[in-house]
Amino acid sequence: MIVSWSNMICAYHLLTFRSILCAKTNHRDILTIGILFNGAVSQSEFPLNSTIFSNNMEEDNFLTLSTNIRQLSNDDSFEASKTVCSLLDADEGLVAVFGPPTSPASPLIESIVKNLNVPYILTSWKGTSYDGSETFLNFYPDNERLSKGIAALVQSLEWNGFVIIYETEEGLVRLQEVLKGQSWMRKTNQDFIRIRQLNRGPDYKPFFKHFKNSTETNFILDCKTENILPILQQVRTLGMLDIHFNYFLTSLDAHTVDYSSLDTNANITTIRLFDYKSEEFKNAVFKWSLSQLRTYNKRKELNPYTIKTETVLFHDALLYLIDALNGMPQLPKNEKTSCYGFDSLRDGTELIKAMRNREYLEPLSGPIQFDEHGNRVDFNLHLYNNDEELLATWSGLNGTTTIARNYDETTSAAVSNLIKIKVIVSTRIGEPYLMKVPPKYEGEILEGNDRYEGYSKDLMDQVAEIIGFTYELVLTENNNYGNWDEEKKRWNGLVGDLLDKKAHLAICDLTITHERQQVVDFSMPFMTLGISILHKYPDKRGTDLFAFLEPFDISVWIYSATLYLVVSLILFFIARMTPGDWENPHPCDENPEMLENIWGIKNCHWATLGTIMNQGCDILPKGISSRMALGMWWFFALIITNSYIANLTAFLTKDKMELPIKSAEDLAKQNKIKYGLLRFGSTEAFFKSSNDSIYQRMYMNMKSQRPTVFEKDNADGVQRVCNTKNSLYAFLMESTQIEYAIEKKCKLKQVGNWLDTKSYGIAMPINAPYRGAINKAVLTLQESGNLTKLKKKWWKDVRKGDSCEDVRNKGKDEKEGDLDLAKTTGTFLVLAVGVSIGISIGILEFLWNVRNVSVEEHLSYWEALKNELAFATNIFIYRKKIKSSSAESSTERKSDKIENKSIMQNMLHSANSLMNIN
Ligand code: ASP
Repeated sequence: MIVSWSNMICAYHLLTFRSILCAKTNHRDILTIGILFNGAVSQSEFPLNSTIFSNNMEEDNFLTLSTNIRQLSNDDSFEASKTVCSLLDADEGLVAVFGPPTSPASPLIESIVKNLNVPYILTSWKGTSYDGSETFLNFYPDNERLSKGIAALVQSLEWNGFVIIYETEEGLVRLQEVLKGQSWMRKTNQDFIRIRQLNRGPDYKPFFKHFKNSTETNFILDCKTENILPILQQVRTLGMLDIHFNYFLTSLDAHTVDYSSLDTNANITTIRLFDYKSEEFKNAVFKWSLSQLRTYNKRKELNPYTIKTETVLFHDALLYLIDALNGMPQLPKNEKTSCYGFDSLRDGTELIKAMRNREYLEPLSGPIQFDEHGNRVDFNLHLYNNDEELLATWSGLNGTTTIARNYDETTSAAVSNLIKIKVIVSTRIGEPYLMKVPPKYEGEILEGNDRYEGYSKDLMDQVAEIIGFTYELVLTENNNYGNWDEEKKRWNGLVGDLLDKKAHLAICDLTITHERQQVVDFSMPFMTLGISILHKYPDKRGTDLFAFLEPFDISVWIYSATLYLVVSLILFFIARMTPGDWENPHPCDENPEMLENIWGIKNCHWATLGTIMNQGCDILPKGISSRMALGMWWFFALIITNSYIANLTAFLTKDKMELPIKSAEDLAKQNKIKYGLLRFGSTEAFFKSSNDSIYQRMYMNMKSQRPTVFEKDNADGVQRVCNTKNSLYAFLMESTQIEYAIEKKCKLKQVGNWLDTKSYGIAMPINAPYRGAINKAVLTLQESGNLTKLKKKWWKDVRKGDSCEDVRNKGKDEKEGDLDLAKTTGTFLVLAVGVSIGISIGILEFLWNVRNVSVEEHLSYWEALKNELAFATNIFIYRKKIKSSSAESSTERKSDKIENKSIMQNMLHSANSLMNIN
């Protein structure tokens, strides 16, 4: 590095590109290199000056190099060919030609030089590989390999899909392997590779605007290095340069661009052949800047990051050439060649062969190896991010990719980006995940995240605290979870927000589904759940006085009562007709004058009533037909009473909080209880796409119901279950929501097991670099038990007073289903009314009897009443005298008196006589 002043002054003379020789050159051969440059100024001048100076100053070397430099006028192939011919035909001759950077004239120049067998050294990109050429050597990586390297590095980024934006057709040639990679990229249907040609510029906005409203976030940009900054600046004004976006720049000189003015969080990755921050590189660049001093007498400070790839390759090519020349047993001679003659350079292939076999050199552009045609097949392609961190290296020789950063390093790099911004978290309102905080006093205005509370917010707070970022909760449009909108052909809800780049994260009770995972990534699950059925315990019955009537329908009661009357009458008539029921009134009298029939209306009714009341009767018919009729009534009574008893038992136990359905199968089997679910959620998706015939049937059933059984929100479903009478609506919902609902409303219940198993996760854009950090945070919270604590806080502790479990246990203590007073009031009432009627009739009979007594005994009514009352209230008397004064009374009447028959009996007897057919 330390160069003596005398040498430098010598070099000053040497490097006037016209072979001014210093004294040392007397014994050395002077060889000339032809150099073609495009345009007047080229960075290649730096290594050229420096390297040739070093060679010429090296005492042990056998040769002194001089250069013959020609500038090519851009794009004019004819002019270019003339310039090349004049270079080859120059008097001093030359040993080799350095080709120009890629230009339209390159193919022509190449063919001229090739035909003349002149050693031709290139340091610029070439779309096709050399084939069968022994005088060519290109230090620029072989296009096919470079393309493979680019494809491998793109693959290392694990993008699901991307857009290739190319400026010229050369870009497509460079990216051919990436395009071929379409097959490995398309892991899922959502993966894509789109190809678009960039417009001419300088206004690139209309071109990129197209992507602004699409879901594309990954771009491979192949354009001229000088266009990178203007393009990115315009992209930035469109808001496409934030953390959501990833750019892969294919230019090997992308590192020379100063991105600081972009102030971006976007992930911009660049590729390069060398590490400009390495010490060797810095030293080389320092040498070059010194050579500037020698050349122009003023030192030009060179910044390593401004050095282009071609400059570095030019340096390496010179290094190889000089080493090859110095190592050749017989030095080639400067020779002039005419484009129009047919003489070719004698040792063109020798020099190239010697260069190809150089070993032990330390080129700046990494390992160099050529194939037999002069294509560079060994090189390392490095992938850097915009923080100048090495992400991966691809080796050209064996085609392997080495990922430079481990998982933690990648994560921490992503975290540092996240910390710089305010993370937007898309969410939705839904208990208990996120609720609006009610103002504590009138006029209180809450702002930012303070407006909300709930599980999601607490979880996000803790995740943000662990990672160290700040965030803002933003409610999604229409409170949707996120599903594919067939009409609008886009995702809505939280998933849509992520795809539209409106949010960096999304949190709510968002189920991780296969469909969603195609378009967004999810963190580790923070909750596990399954679909289950929410139903309501049967409504508690009110105090119905006539609850004892409920075992039978009203019609059964009416029919039974009517039958009782009808059968009693039929029995009455049959008994009159059948001779068996006409009996001797005095069995001791063998030849009675008349027969008696005891089956009057009264007795018929009494017999049928006794039967149906399960009490029987002390008189029974003797006639065949009447026995038949009464027997059938017994049969009827047997069935009816036993059914009543059985039904009464069921009716009494109906309140035992028993649900009529126990599983989804039960639901599917019946039509009485309607069931529904949340529209446009993973629950619906589950039923929609299920292969299980039961679930398919259930979904068809739900779809066919009018009015609809679907709900817009889980809370609406819960409300509907509560409000629907007689538990005639059940709601299929995720178990976590069911847990919450039954904790709040004790009359609700989860029925059956989970129909599936799934989880909730925090969603983020696909391949979000911060996914690892979020995962780690969720895992930490899980391991520390904080997730469980949060669940308890929002599920259990929200309920004031007794928990539903306690409430239900209390209910159990009350021995549900027992025959309590409320349910038996009616029977008491019937008894009371019946007995009251009995008492009333008794009083009437008594008063009527008093009247008879007063008439018969010629007493005043009051006297008779007094006497009868005194007699009746004397509880020790059980016998009563027959009044003898009524001598004129008939036998029948006497017997009536003896039996102390009541007036009512007399009335009935009269009616009986009236209907007496005989
Ligand atoms: N959690 C569900 C979702 O993410 C919503 C539901 O079906 O309950 O779509």
